Amino acid sequence: MALELPSLPYEKSSLEPYISAQTLDFHHGKHHQAYVTNANNLTKDTPLENLSLEDLILHVANKPDKVGIFNNAAQVWNHTFYWNCMKPNGGGTPSGMIAQKIDEDFGSFENFVSEFKIAATTQFGSGWAWLVLDEKKLKIIKTPNADTPMVHGLKALLTVDVWEHAYYLDYQNRRPDYVDIFLKHLVNWDFVNQNLLS
Ligand code: MN
Repeated sequence: MALELPSLPYEKSSLEPYISAQTLDFHHGKHHQAYVTNANNLTKDTPLENLSLEDLILHVANKPDKVGIFNNAAQVWNHTFYWNCMKPNGGGTPSGMIAQKIDEDFGSFENFVSEFKIAATTQFGSGWAWLVLDEKKLKIIKTPNADTPMVHGLKALLTVDVWEHAYYLDYQNRRPDYVDIFLKHLVNWDFVNQNLLS
């Protein structure tokens, strides 16, 4: 069963002025699509083509001869997750369970913001910053390239893509501005709450 590129959960222009339709056009239509195409080509006519995306990622993780499959499959998952982490008129302070849990585990929302920004801006080169659940505790981590929390036994709750292709057209080299805007105007806290409770 071949992987498919999922549709964006909103109109391409609806994250403007924070993320342009042009960025989403390239990021979803070209980059995400390329990961889907590559993962399908690399698993075609092998037993791996029958695995679900999650099972495929876990199966090829940490196998040196399968690194190409891992990189593409994990990037398919990471991007689908990232699109859902944003929504028009999102960002700002959360509500629901996640608000309470952030206060418990980080002391305050301000502390969470500051830790998340540090992770996102200090990831050297391409990668991701994540809010994850480690057993029952919230943690912030960063991962390089395609690396993804599930292979470390962590449950992803929120991510920001800090590959340059995610922000270069809109923010050029100003990754800190992109991360700041992501937190202020884009985070879909309903999705984060859903992940926390699932
Ligand atoms: Mn990306």
